[in-house]
Amino acid sequence: MRVSRLLLVTLRETPADAEIPSHQLLLRGGYIRRVSAGIYVYLPLMWRVIKKVMKIVQQEMDLVGGLETLLPQLQPSELWKKSGRWEGYTQGEGIMFNLKDRQKRSLGLGPTHEEVVTSVVDELINSYRQLPITIYQTQTKFRDEIRPRFGLMRGREFIMKDAYSFHTNESCLQDTYKKMDAAYKKIFARCGLKVIPVEADSGAIGGEASQEFMLTADSGEDCILISPDGKYAANQEKAVSIPSDPLPIKEEQSSIQTTICSGSIEDLCKTSQLDSSQIIKVILMLATIEEGKFQPILISLRGDQELNEVKLFNEVTKLINKNVLEISPITSEGVASQGLPPFPFGSIGPDLEDTYLKGAKNWSNNFMRLADHTAIKLKTFICGANELNKHKFNTNWKEISKTPSPLDIRKAKPGERCVHDPLQTLQEARGIEVGHIFQLGTKYSNALRATFTDEEGTLKPFWMGCYGIGISRLSQAAVEQNNDDLGIIWPLAIAPYHVIIVIANMQDILQKELGEMLYLKLQESKIEVLLDDRDERAGVKFKDADLIGIPLRIVVGRDAKEGKVEFLIRHSKQSKLVSSHEALNEVITHVQSISNA
Ligand code: ATP
Ligand code: MG
Repeated sequence: MRVSRLLLVTLRETPADAEIPSHQLLLRGGYIRRVSAGIYVYLPLMWRVIKKVMKIVQQEMDLVGGLETLLPQLQPSELWKKSGRWEGYTQGEGIMFNLKDRQKRSLGLGPTHEEVVTSVVDELINSYRQLPITIYQTQTKFRDEIRPRFGLMRGREFIMKDAYSFHTNESCLQDTYKKMDAAYKKIFARCGLKVIPVEADSGAIGGEASQEFMLTADSGEDCILISPDGKYAANQEKAVSIPSDPLPIKEEQSSIQTTICSGSIEDLCKTSQLDSSQIIKVILMLATIEEGKFQPILISLRGDQELNEVKLFNEVTKLINKNVLEISPITSEGVASQGLPPFPFGSIGPDLEDTYLKGAKNWSNNFMRLADHTAIKLKTFICGANELNKHKFNTNWKEISKTPSPLDIRKAKPGERCVHDPLQTLQEARGIEVGHIFQLGTKYSNALRATFTDEEGTLKPFWMGCYGIGISRLSQAAVEQNNDDLGIIWPLAIAPYHVIIVIANMQDILQKELGEMLYLKLQESKIEVLLDDRDERAGVKFKDADLIGIPLRIVVGRDAKEGKVEFLIRHSKQSKLVSSHEALNEVITHVQSISNA
């Protein structure tokens, strides 16, 4: 392809709305254009990258026996009501775009495809003899993200490969899950990217076990915790650790004392010479449940611990056994809007009476009382006395009239001891989630009554797995991991073109002819080649070549008269003067190295 025909519009300035390097570089390099929040055009260079990623993914899916299909993006609400996900996905913080057709029937634009695929497989498969199967597609997904940002990283319209597997039993599912895990590792390695698998929360997709694939990058939205021996890696949302030990308190008679402080733990520690591990702090949250119900939750944590909201959400969902739409902090305004008397914020203890909720407009009249294990394990502690500026000192759980249920709802933190080996401590890394695999179990097949007949002739629900890769996110994440001050450095396997020939001076006939000759020869050798034949200054062309990040470069300049050119590798910036013939061979050898990888 000739750069003069490429529709290449590069920008010198960094666009103001782009915060992270990959987003800036893709905009500057003429790869993408923003149409609206989270909605982008993939320009020709970007589309080539995306197609390469798709091809690698599709090859590996075919190798594990996946059947490629294309499922509809418009999905009837009935299917989502059957699975019980319609409300959760369309209300509160739900991310499904939804609409009504001319007959006033509700439809959603597919954010994911468990419902559709389960119902169609149920129609097609009757017998255990037809199992297992894996179906996959590569398609545009729609999600009305609360905070679309970072370009293709969190789009509202983006490309995903999603696969779904169906099995007669759990061990068959686990077998496919393992194969997918291996296929994913191969995909990321083939793309030339550093990606680590981590234990993950299953989120709104649900199911038993799940694993995310994190591309390591400083700008990653996810915090991952890793043990130095590499045996444990988890998303902080899911991670566990051995907590630090609390500082002991001198056992004394318990007493209620006046504490003049702002109500924050730090302040209380300062004014009363305490360590935060000696205090029970109480957090009040409100769960919005389907069917318009609201449940106040009173959470007791050890003062030095932080609430893990994902763990909390999962535990509350389990306890309530209904769809929880949202959990958010209770504020004094919220309390007032219920027509309730003010709560003693800053001095609330685990035993705040339920009478505080009496007469609430639409909240439940009882607190759901939860505590983290670390709080319950404290023998003696300080906690709010449920009266403004009063705390109970040297108290214990026996003195607290209402003991909450102990759960794991705290955040594991870097520096804490690893569960599998207490001699090691967790280290932190930032990651971009590029893939996620789930063992769904029978969640969807049960809900949608999707069954097969087993060897004994009994109807059984399918065991299911699902496996996603964010194709467009991965394509941008590749840039986040591979760039320098000058621009992008594409890994060869997913670069839009393997090589760019830059003709330094288009007015020089010798340079032009040698450039054109190399262009032709490389095309004949099936090399993906760009020819910068623009009538621009050499400096401009070099800058653009650096910016768009084509991995190999041949510069045809003054030495063309001796039949020599400069061969340059973008990654190492190493260059050498070689004969045009040698340059051709260099390129061919490099490109062959990816097909042999
Ligand atoms: P996240 O936690 O980042 O919101 P998710 O866990 O909701 O993602 P999944 O449902 O697991 O996402 O989707 C599979 C893959 O699709 C993700 O691993 C990610 O790579 C990609 N993906 C998800 N949401 C987006 C988005 N808004 N824009 C681009 N890619 C996305
Ligand atoms: Mg995910």
